[in-house]
Order: sequence, then structure tokens, then C-alpha cells
Amino acid sequence: SVGAQRQTESKKDALLGGLLLPGFDEQTCASRYQSVYYRKNMTRQPSPYLIKRLREQEALQRRCGPGTEPYMRASERLRSGQTGAVDDVDGCSYLVLISYRGLGNRMLAITSVFLYALLTNRVLLVDPGYGNTLPDLFCEPFPGTTWALPLDFPLEKRFRQLDEAAPESYGNVVVNRSGSVSGMRFVYLHLDHAASPANRLVYCDNHRESFLHRMQWAIIRTDQYMAPGLFFNPAYQEELDRLFPLKDSVFYLLSRYLLHPTNDVWGMVTRYYNSYLRDADERLGIQIRVLFAGADKPAQHVLDQILACTSREHLLPGVVTTEGAAPQLPPAAAGARRSKKAVLVTGLSAWYHDNIREMYWKSATVDGEVVSLFQPSHEEHQQWYHNKHDMKAAAEIYLLSLTDKIVTSAWSTFGYVGYALGGLRPYLMFIPENQTAPDPPCTRAMSMEPCSHGAPSFECTRKEINTIINTGVLLPHVRACEDISWGLKLT
Ligand code: GDP
Repeated sequence: SVGAQRQTESKKDALLGGLLLPGFDEQTCASRYQSVYYRKNMTRQPSPYLIKRLREQEALQRRCGPGTEPYMRASERLRSGQTGAVDDVDGCSYLVLISYRGLGNRMLAITSVFLYALLTNRVLLVDPGYGNTLPDLFCEPFPGTTWALPLDFPLEKRFRQLDEAAPESYGNVVVNRSGSVSGMRFVYLHLDHAASPANRLVYCDNHRESFLHRMQWAIIRTDQYMAPGLFFNPAYQEELDRLFPLKDSVFYLLSRYLLHPTNDVWGMVTRYYNSYLRDADERLGIQIRVLFAGADKPAQHVLDQILACTSREHLLPGVVTTEGAAPQLPPAAAGARRSKKAVLVTGLSAWYHDNIREMYWKSATVDGEVVSLFQPSHEEHQQWYHNKHDMKAAAEIYLLSLTDKIVTSAWSTFGYVGYALGGLRPYLMFIPENQTAPDPPCTRAMSMEPCSHGAPSFECTRKEINTIINTGVLLPHVRACEDISWGLKLT
């Protein structure tokens, strides 16, 4: 029957084209299957090969994850300092992600490090962070196991202090120890956005043959989106082509697979959406992140820039002086339906939102369109590893991803995740200089992918790490970012 067919179709959609498995945690993680009712149709579909590899990764995570015999043996090796590279202990090797910095940074890191785990057949374990905020924000992505690094992890707190200078760092092993890992219990991959070129050699690691492949434990620190850099490695290119026939779908598909907000965050998302955004004809997101010194004070030029961008790109209607003019009849009485635009503003300050809202209060729009502005929170100051603060940030990032069009701020990973999760090609604002609004104020981004702030600046075939070259011209689908000349993004 038609009804039954519709039911199976909606069931099929809830699984996002096979990205998700059915029947997993429906009550404890409602967002996983409910998000389809809030989102537009999938901008990109997962390839059958990606789906196959995800199922294999889930099996690996279950077979080797915390609580299993192989995990206990592996962590015992790490604890006891049984050293040296080993081939294939239980077929389980691990990638531990040190999660740090703001939420946008952490979401980019988790998603792209998951891709790295997939490419290198490692079990991904995520450090829940200093404040243990991860479990408050995201559900477990893999059925029947956990991705949270157990609290009794043998390296305890010490591993969070690992830095470039650590003897175990990849750069040190390659440059100063000619690849010798004797006496080492693990390798440390330092891929912070400001990592040295030597440490960025990880991107070019020749996978099957290198010492890295034989180390059971790898610990990675990154605060940025490492996916574009992986495309430079000849060892991964064929696999990446099979996983992602369309290169601009990497974050979109992997984040949809991996990052499901917890019930508490999802409740914040859906209540807000249903109250303020659902009934509009169009939803515009404006993400405001002011990154320069003194950013906590209102900046007129940033407001000017936002308005110049929304006007130039026809995202918001202009206003007319209405002094003394008779306002229009209400829509129903006038017999005409006026379109309603809801504008979701996010930012730490309320000042920008208040100004734009006041503009549309004091003056009429040129086309009669009804414009309403909403901002869920204004936290004033960024906080680190604070659960309630992070939950608001997570809810706002998700709300941004539910808009139809989006304006985001230069350099901000918060904004990157907002548009990329929604599969939206944003209007990206340029970074202001000398306290003036740049001209042009913004540009339409070439893809919905986030920008990587720490990709390699050398070719994998040459590995000349001391000469910086323009890597944005080496591959057809990896280009310099619109907002950061040294950043790279997939297109
Ligand atoms: P980035 O610094 O802009 O790259 O973005 P991050 O998300 O990595 O770090 C910024 C942090 O500041 C967030 O995690 C939040 O804690 C806070 N923050 C910045 N902008 C907003 C916002 O619009 N809403 C909320 N709730 N928090 C924000």
C-alpha cells in the first residue's frame, strides 16, 4: 500500500542512505534517527564502499575496543613498557585522540581523525577531555562498544602534556632517530594547526611500510581538520577515491555518521527550532565570531561588514525610511502573503543581533518581507571544558546547520562546522583589517567543506620540509581556502 511504502521510505531516509544502522540506541540517542525530520534532503549520498568500510570499522571497534580481551592485552603492553614495534597483536591497533580547544576545533578534529583511523585500520579512542564534556555532547557512534578512552588508560594524565618536543613525536622519530622506535611504547602524532613541518610528515607516511604502521599505539593531538592533507599521500589516494567519489562530501558524510547530539543537546536544538525557525519561509544563519584583540567590545565595522554582505548577496532585504508613512495592512487583510524570513544569529555578544533587530523594528523592509531575528545565547566570554557552556555551543552549531543559507566568520571553526554539517556552501566573511570592513565583505565559498589550518606545505613525493610551496595547486580538488591563504580545503 501507499501508506506502507511511505513508511518504509521514511525509515530508509532516517538511515541516511545506509550511513546509519537501524535499531541502535533509539531512546538514549533520539537525534540519530530524528535529525532527518529537521534536515533538508541529503546533499550528498554515501558511496556503497564508504558504507562497507563503516561497517568494517564498527566491527573493529567492537572487537578491539575497551573491555575486550585484545584491549586489555594492548593496554597491558603499554603499561608494562613492553617495547619495540610489533606486527599485528590480535589484529588490533589504536589511535588515541587528545581532544582540546573550542568545540568547533574538536568536532573538526574528531571527524577527520576518524577518517585517518579508517584509512589506517586503527581503533579510534577519544579522550573525553579535561572536563569530561564529550559524553554530554555526543552519543556513542559505534554500536556495542565505546569510543571514549577509558579512565584507567595506562598513560594517565601524562599523555595530555605530550608536545612536539616529546621523544615519541613522529617528527623526532623521523628526523632525529632515522625512523628507529626501539624502546618506544607509542608514537605521538603532533598535528596541532601550528605543528612543525617535520611533524606534518605524518601526512606523507608511507603507510604499510613505515614504523608507524607497526606501532600498536598511536596518540594524536590535533585541533584542526586533517582531511585535506590526507589526500596528498599517494598511499591513500585510491582508497579515498573509492570512499568519496565526490571530494566535497567528506565532512558532510562523516559528521552525519559520527556526531549525534545527546538527548539534552538535541532537546535544546529541537525546542528552539520548533519555537522560532520552523514556520519561516526561509531561514538565514549568521555566525559572528570576532577573533581580534578587544573582541569583547562591540565593533561597528563588523556590524557594517555583516550588513554589507547580506545586502550585496541579497540575503536580507534593505530598509526604507518610513517617517510619517502609513504602515501596511496586516497580511491577511491586505490579501497578500508576505514572506517571512527567520534569522538565526549566533555569537558571544548580543550587540550585533540587537542592532539588526532594531533596524527592522524601526524601519520597514523595501519589499514588505517580514524579518525576525533570534539569538539563542550570548555567553560573552569563551569558556573551556565547561559542560553547560559547551552544550549551548553544540546546540547552536546544530541550529546553524539547519538553516537554508548561512553567513559565517573568517577563520572560525565554529562557523565551519555550522555550514559543513548542514551541507551548505556558506557566504564567508573575510577577516577585517585595520578596524574596517573589508571590501568585498564576503564571498560565496567554493564548497561546503571546512578549511584545514595545518595542512602540509610540501609535496609527499619530495618531502622537502624546509621549503614552503603552494600546495593548493597540486591536486584538482584541494584548493587554498577563501578566508585563509595558507589553509586548504576540499572542493
Ligand atoms: P573558533 O575559535 O571560532 O575556531 O571556534 P571553537 O568552537 O573552536 O571555539 C570557540 C568557543 O567559544 C566555542 O567552543 C564556545 O565555547 C565559544 N563560542 C564562540 N562562539 C559562540 C557562539 O556563537 N555561541 C556559543 N554558545 N558559544 C560560542
